[in-house]
Amino acid sequence: MSSQIPVKEIDPNTDGPSDNNKKKPETVELYASRKKIYVRAVTGLFQRIRFFSLMALMGMYFLFVWVTFDGQPLIHFDLPAREFHLFGGTFYPQDFFLLAAMLIICAFGLFFITTLFGRVWCGYTCPQTVWTFIFMWVEERIEGSRNKRIKLDKAPNSPDKVIRKSAKHIAWLLIALATGLTFVGYFYPIRDLLADLATLDANGWAYFWVGFFTLATYMNAGWMREQVCLYMCPYARFQSVMFDRNTRVVSYDPNRGEPRGSRKKSADREELGLGDCIDCGLCVQVCPTGIDIRDGLQYECIGCALCIDACDSVMDKMEYPRGLIRYTTENELEGRTSKLLRPRTFGYGALLMLMIGAVVVTIVTRVPVDLDVIRDRGSMFNYNGRGWVENTYTLKINNLSEVSREYRIEVDGIESARLLRGNDPISVDASGHRSVPVVVEVDPEDLEDINTGITFRIEALDTIDVSDETDSQFIGPRPR
Ligand code: SF4
Ligand code: SF4
Repeated sequence: MSSQIPVKEIDPNTDGPSDNNKKKPETVELYASRKKIYVRAVTGLFQRIRFFSLMALMGMYFLFVWVTFDGQPLIHFDLPAREFHLFGGTFYPQDFFLLAAMLIICAFGLFFITTLFGRVWCGYTCPQTVWTFIFMWVEERIEGSRNKRIKLDKAPNSPDKVIRKSAKHIAWLLIALATGLTFVGYFYPIRDLLADLATLDANGWAYFWVGFFTLATYMNAGWMREQVCLYMCPYARFQSVMFDRNTRVVSYDPNRGEPRGSRKKSADREELGLGDCIDCGLCVQVCPTGIDIRDGLQYECIGCALCIDACDSVMDKMEYPRGLIRYTTENELEGRTSKLLRPRTFGYGALLMLMIGAVVVTIVTRVPVDLDVIRDRGSMFNYNGRGWVENTYTLKINNLSEVSREYRIEVDGIESARLLRGNDPISVDASGHRSVPVVVEVDPEDLEDINTGITFRIEALDTIDVSDETDSQFIGPRPR
């Protein structure tokens, strides 16, 4: 896309607009096409930490979908049955607030960590980083080092180039397919999914979602890479509001590094009037987003610390102290002391603790049965043969536990209230639900109003710890 935008030229002598402004509109490109980044491989402490964290996360993602615990999948979102199995617990739509609370905890956790250490989430754990890392690793194995890849891309087509490029894309597609299958496997039992896909018995949506996630993984990690972080991820845009002068982020130390300049290892930098940066450009070549950390804090920086490893290796070779690029704070760079604990870390930390506490208490005190009562809207009330008033209800019992249970129903709140129907124990399967019609009779002498409160209670027969109760209304005649 291009557009004619009149650009003001500044007269270098006066700092004001020059006469040329009147005549010459200049064409400015509003769209810059992506420049392919050839990332140089690097080894070092932070790369090793990244490697182990990425492997652990990938391992959990691909493994957990196969693991069962006590006969139940470890993690499974059973949408048709509206059940969510998470680490041995089963959750239902009525537990939705727990899911919301967990998402809030994740958000506050992210804010808290970002306030302390910047974008460590992006650099070490974000799925986009994890999968891009794997795809880049595969690329390096097949096409070779950075220089070889640049040469290969510039070379005319040849059998070697076609074979290497095809092998890379096939490998990427296989990883993407495994990712798509695994993701759908969290919603559609993985063993059934694979069998149904192989025999073409799977639901059409299963094919669609596997295809969608395969393509999304292939495009995001293979082709778009840093573009996702730069243009699609909202977190990159608003994370800077959580930064302050005490946030520890990957930074270049200009006091130590400048003035930069190349020199021989044996040269005396003080004599040359140079800082520690030898201007080798290695920190830029290893950067997955293609930025130069020496230009200061930039929103493109995902905090991966690869430039730290690269620069430390250069410092080792030059026999200079490590840490020209390091995790540090703006205050420390300016020679001031940094504070770890400050109002915003206290604020996020306190909210985080509060939410975690609330979720733990809710899960620990969660009753594994839920009772819902619906009054029969077809009739207000009936008189029975002995002149007592009858109301009809439907009780919905959700057994939220992993075992089948029998329940006893009781009514309370009106002295003479008695169950005419619904006296027998009600059996409900594990994680099942059942609707039970119930008729209650009441002596009209006990009714002081048209509406009288009544309470239904269910109790498990096998344990005293499992019970639930729900209030409803008993409707009777207008009192005389
Ligand atoms: S790697 Fe270090 S020495 Fe080399 S250009 Fe970057 S900051 Fe300077
Ligand atoms: S500048 Fe680049 S290499 Fe350095 S931490 Fe940021 S994203 Fe990583």
